[in-house]
Amino acid sequence: MHPKNVYKNGVSFAQLAKEYPGLGKCLKGTSSIDFHDPESIRQLAKALLKKEFNLDIDLPEDRLCPGVPNRLNYILWLNDLLLDTHKERSSPGPPKVTGIDIGTGASAIYPLLGCAQFPNWNFFATDIDSKSLSSATANIAQNGLEDRITLLDVSSSSTILPEEEITSYPQPIDFTMCNPPFYTSINDMLSSAKKKAVPPLSACTGSTTEMVTDGGEVTFVNRMVEQSLKLREKIRWYTSMLGKRSSVEKVVEKLKENGVGNYVVGEFVQGAKTKRWAVGWSFGDRRAGDHISRQPTSHLLKSHLPFPTTFKIPLPIDANLSTLLPQVEELMKKSCADFPNETFEWSSVQLPYFATMYGAVENLYSNGKGVTSGNTWARAARRRRKKLEKDAEEGRVSEVPQEPKFGFAAGIFIGSSGPTPTAAKGTLSAQEEKKGHDEDQDMVDETDAWDNDFISLPASSMEPEASKGSYILLRWTIGLDHVVWESFCGMLRRKVLEGLAEMKT
Ligand code: SAH
Repeated sequence: MHPKNVYKNGVSFAQLAKEYPGLGKCLKGTSSIDFHDPESIRQLAKALLKKEFNLDIDLPEDRLCPGVPNRLNYILWLNDLLLDTHKERSSPGPPKVTGIDIGTGASAIYPLLGCAQFPNWNFFATDIDSKSLSSATANIAQNGLEDRITLLDVSSSSTILPEEEITSYPQPIDFTMCNPPFYTSINDMLSSAKKKAVPPLSACTGSTTEMVTDGGEVTFVNRMVEQSLKLREKIRWYTSMLGKRSSVEKVVEKLKENGVGNYVVGEFVQGAKTKRWAVGWSFGDRRAGDHISRQPTSHLLKSHLPFPTTFKIPLPIDANLSTLLPQVEELMKKSCADFPNETFEWSSVQLPYFATMYGAVENLYSNGKGVTSGNTWARAARRRRKKLEKDAEEGRVSEVPQEPKFGFAAGIFIGSSGPTPTAAKGTLSAQEEKKGHDEDQDMVDETDAWDNDFISLPASSMEPEASKGSYILLRWTIGLDHVVWESFCGMLRRKVLEGLAEMKT
């Protein structure tokens, strides 16, 4: 469950039932409800949305009833992703965020939740089902959100993403999101329900258009990937939820086959039994932190996660901190001044990269950030610069190749207790989603071993030994080529550790 999810500690049904008589009627005993009863889960969704978000929704009996905690997890993860990879702001204040919800359903749950949670969010929302569309229209209207949510009937469209709206929008759209139809056929849906010994569709109340699509979720999302290859940076982050772990593998394969290396994999845990995943990809060069992009803990997904964007340089344990830390700071600044930067600053203000990675960062000593034009520290780059200088001296005009931007941040952390990753995993919440959606339950928590020195958070818990000492964390913030990033990490580690060794002698 996302640390900011209001439902992370569960919900008291007894209390909620007292406040919302509709749910009161559905109470089983004094403190529970029947998750197999469609009316009960509908009333639960209504009560939860009203209490926390002041949202009023009506749901047709024959349409999917959204599990609120899970839908909120996706919205919060998306917000983390946008903040961690934010675009430059042209005006002060929170920038307007525009997203597209593909297949919004009868509830229009994602646009409603997104708008209720974030006052600067706006949506386009699509669907192909006329009954769902009219119900969504009513839900948007009764919450007064018509000016922030634009509903699109795409039933006659041949593409999944609404191309006309995207290409005519005056700026890039911030994200797309989707909870795709999961199953390849009604048989697939029924057999999957049977496997879990849940009466088929008992509490799901999904109609066939909602639950079934040709080729299932993989085909649906792969069609979005295909379309994104054409739309590229018209959308900053394309994302979709996925209900099966195997689908994550297939969609990631598809992205890699098409050379899309900037992708993220989220994992949403609702209650003790249900896991969902989200895959996001971008044609832009902003990199998300590992705490957002490498969330799955299962070793089965390990090879499908994106290249880590965090690198740790442990500092000598035996050193006196009051001399070590200023020395390290000096070495970092000096090392970064040695190669050409477009921008480089070392600051006493905590950078968001480190704040979002650990929640509270009391043990951050200091941090800095910079942007270069490609790899400017390599020997080849130095030789190239020398040659350019010589050419200039001798009056020859030579072409300066445009290098792609590379961005980094660095933080020096004071050891002893070490930071604790924030994302609480596997906490039990009272209202689990018990729908036909929970295919492929994968609750084996494998604590990832350290990936060389690249760390994946929060999957890898800090090793007790390593956390005793102080360390530098490097964060990759901009760029498409992980070889440049790896070279950067190697270079800084060598410079700092050699520098410290020299100071000692
Ligand atoms: N977003 C809602 C509903 C998800 S069910 C929720 O999370 O609860 C999937 C939805 O996708 C259904 O409403 C279905 O009608 C819609 N859908 C199926 N194919 C679609 C397509 N090609 N374009 C847009 N929506 C589609």
